[in-house]
Amino acid sequence: MRNSLIVGNWKLNGNKYHITNSVAKLVELCASISRSYIAIAPPVVYLDMVRRNLRDSCIKLCAQNVDPYISGAFTGDVSPIMLQDLNVKYVLIGHSERRIYHNEYDAYVAQKFCIVKKIGLIPILCIGENKKEHACGYTESVCLNQIKVIIKLSGGTVEVFKDSIIAYEPVWAIGSGVSAVPEEVQMIHKSIRNYIESYSINIASSVRILYGGSVTPENVVNFLNQKDIDGVLIGSASLDADKFHDIIKLSEKLN
Ligand code: PEP
Repeated sequence: MRNSLIVGNWKLNGNKYHITNSVAKLVELCASISRSYIAIAPPVVYLDMVRRNLRDSCIKLCAQNVDPYISGAFTGDVSPIMLQDLNVKYVLIGHSERRIYHNEYDAYVAQKFCIVKKIGLIPILCIGENKKEHACGYTESVCLNQIKVIIKLSGGTVEVFKDSIIAYEPVWAIGSGVSAVPEEVQMIHKSIRNYIESYSINIASSVRILYGGSVTPENVVNFLNQKDIDGVLIGSASLDADKFHDIIKLSEKLN
């Protein structure tokens, strides 16, 4: 069992006041955390402010998004090199809200994943089925197809997944208050790992697979107790420092 990674995705929330207070509180609450890995993903404009407030805490920075270009005439874009310059460690790639509201299609997501990895940041690839696909029993094929696009762009190898992170987030579970069933999530995670293992056993075991979708302090243990769930990606429950810390504490007990 890997030590869990707990990532808080603040989405489009927070302001200078919230950040100053909640980051300071979180840093204090997490001072004795030593076995779980923790990251928070504030909106991009606040990354540097959060970085300064985190000081030498164990909490790492995660970006919610990135663009696939390094530099040049791409007005409004954010380069992975710029994120690296701000000490960002992780980057969410292909979150369902980006796929849905910004039409981020699989090949574009794959392009971002590969460049982030090449630069040396750790991509967190978000995959998952929507409600209709879930009802039709297409969960596994939807998830594997989202992974296959990256393997194809990488010339048919899984090298790019070495030490990377995949977050299985059923779209219907995100922000709905209805989480997936932990045992069913375990089966999906296992099939994702098995698929990568069909290319390379070593790389499959280096991949960390998170679950995301309405995770709370009340249900997190049921997820983290599953063999192939290596952590959680948390949206709304991460906005409250106490709640987020409750989740981290529970993870810490299991690690
Ligand atoms: C998310 O934003 O990735 C997420 C899982 O949100 P929530 O925890 O609110 O469902």
